[in-house]
Amino acid sequence: TDSLTTADVVAAVTRFGAVVTENRQYLIDLDSAIGDADHGENMARGLAAALEALAAEPPASPADALKAVATTLIRKVGGASGPLYGTAFLRASTAVAGKDQLGAEDVVALLVAARDGIVSRGKAEPGDKTMVDAWTPAVEAAQAALDGGGDVSAVLAAASAAAQDGAAATVPLVARKGRASYLGERSAGHQDPGATSTAMLFAAFASVAGQ
Ligand code: ADP
Ligand code: MG
Ligand code: MG
Repeated sequence: TDSLTTADVVAAVTRFGAVVTENRQYLIDLDSAIGDADHGENMARGLAAALEALAAEPPASPADALKAVATTLIRKVGGASGPLYGTAFLRASTAVAGKDQLGAEDVVALLVAARDGIVSRGKAEPGDKTMVDAWTPAVEAAQAALDGGGDVSAVLAAASAAAQDGAAATVPLVARKGRASYLGERSAGHQDPGATSTAMLFAAFASVAGQ
């Protein structure tokens, strides 16, 4: 596809919620190894609430949809991931304010804004074993796909593949941010839960854009 509509954004968030719910226990297991075993529950609960909000008040634009998800995640999800994903969706919303459909350039602008929001909020750098390790390669791959003339599907497919690789590449890292950092060297050998849910987010958007 060469653009995402409001319905596409809602479909992607719906798919993200479904994938997180299917993988709720997996995300809990990842977080139990290096955190407090709540990431799957946090995300499943937050996304279910976001989908209820979208159903209760259908969004008029992609920015509206992204903003409803942001405010719900900030309100309903405690811990690190609620404010971080909330900030990402809020910045994404602002980046595409006033647009009825999102072209490839809009999607890249939205992703850059979302990633920058996570970094400014959480102060993690690439290599710190956080969701930034999935977001940053995803954004870079999206930009490269756009520069190569890719449409929305190509941009999101590239981002999704890079997010997946980025999440897998967190396994050997030692955490320097978030709860996992309390474990020091013992955090190595486990995949970061937030990077893993980020890969699910990108897979959901890529899947909707690829249809
Ligand atoms: P909590 O750690 O508060 O229980 P979650 O378990 O829901 O919250 O989320 C944990 C995830 O949040 C981590 O796997 C990591 O990806 C992400 N995270 C934690 N701190 C930061 C940070 N400062 N910057 C970016 N991401 C972070
Ligand atoms: Mg946790
Ligand atoms: Mg927690």
